[in-house]
Amino acid sequence: MNTKVCKFGGTSMANSDNINAIANIIESDKERRFVVPSAPGKRFKEDTKVTDLLYKAYNATNKSEFHATFEEIKARYQDIIDGLKLDLSLDNEFQIIQDNFEKKLGEDYAASRGEYLNGMLLAHYLGFEFIDAKDVIFIDEHGNYDIEMTDPILSEKLANVEYAVIPGFYGSLNDGTQTIKAFSRGGSDVTGSIVAKNGKVDLYENWTDVSGFLIADPRIIKNPAVIQTITYKELRELSYMGASVLHENSVFPVRKEGIPINIKNTNSPTDPGTLIVERSCHKPAHVITGIAGKKGFATVMIEKDMMNSEIGFGRRVLQVFEDHQLSFEHIPSGIDTMTVIVNTDEFIDKEQDILAGIHRAVQPDSIVLESDLALIAVVGRGMKASRGTAARIFNALAQKNINIKMIDQGSSELNIIIGVRNCYFNQAVKAIYNEFID
Ligand code: ASP
Repeated sequence: MNTKVCKFGGTSMANSDNINAIANIIESDKERRFVVPSAPGKRFKEDTKVTDLLYKAYNATNKSEFHATFEEIKARYQDIIDGLKLDLSLDNEFQIIQDNFEKKLGEDYAASRGEYLNGMLLAHYLGFEFIDAKDVIFIDEHGNYDIEMTDPILSEKLANVEYAVIPGFYGSLNDGTQTIKAFSRGGSDVTGSIVAKNGKVDLYENWTDVSGFLIADPRIIKNPAVIQTITYKELRELSYMGASVLHENSVFPVRKEGIPINIKNTNSPTDPGTLIVERSCHKPAHVITGIAGKKGFATVMIEKDMMNSEIGFGRRVLQVFEDHQLSFEHIPSGIDTMTVIVNTDEFIDKEQDILAGIHRAVQPDSIVLESDLALIAVVGRGMKASRGTAARIFNALAQKNINIKMIDQGSSELNIIIGVRNCYFNQAVKAIYNEFID
């Protein structure tokens, strides 16, 4: 029999109806053996996630704020228990949690209780074994999973259990003290991936509230199409440029094992969703797989006569950025110009030091600064095989009278990056989307 891990996000577990729906999903497929829940998320737009309530309660500055928030958290779980008509009391657990809050066991401990309680509750409802993540997942002080410590223990545990719930988002610190340590926010995705790897599963299902990874940002494009299949490399390009679906550390454990991730929608479980794979012969539905982008970049244009014959010029310029701990995004260049594109927010405080550094390092004729650039990445493995993609992008932008300030195509032919003024960003994304997606 094949095995699947299913990770459910907070909105898929926000109330008893949602939990009932995911129980139906789990029970409808016997291959869904390992379940990784998040904490209950928002039930409606203005609602607060349980994780945020836990942080709030832990950091409360007075008793009445603590009690009010703690009662709110208790009520969230009690509503779920009542809605599902469970014969379960979490009173004892809440007493322990309250005592540990008083002992100041740490913010990570506090935040992790959302997943812990949800995991217990779900295991009870499904009749699955509950595996406390603190016993099987180990995390270093920087929030990275400790492979050497985790893998032998977790794989052994999963090999000896048929059906189990393992709460997401946390584990123990890898120093043997059993201190609770959490991943960064959204970290249940990482747990799902670690469980998938160690459970030697065939598929990692990541259940959320959209039917997959969208070709473009729905805040810009109304009802964008869903990407059917995407490779890890394409995903990385799009995520780097701001498209968010998965926690960025959730990819590498499964990628190494060749386990695909399927993004699925709990509100529409029969939709195929998006399949994320290492490589694929599936012909992409469109030449481009996705579009993503960000505003807020600055350009530092350095000009110097005969720059091209000065060996080491580029290295000396980049050394200045490195000395100020600033990474650059792109470096388009001409024979006598070199432009360094950086994130404006990161650059702004170091600006004058960097300019002085460049003057000292390469004695330029001039430096021109602009801070009005948006970058758009048009990503797709299908580009390699088809001619005219760049022409179509440029044409689409020209038709809308949008001036292109920068172009960068990586030699892997996986993406084309376009720079436009911030004010044209949305229009440019729309023009490119309409050109490629019918
Ligand atoms: N509950 C945690 C958060 O809100 C982790 C997660 O949902 O993945 O960030």
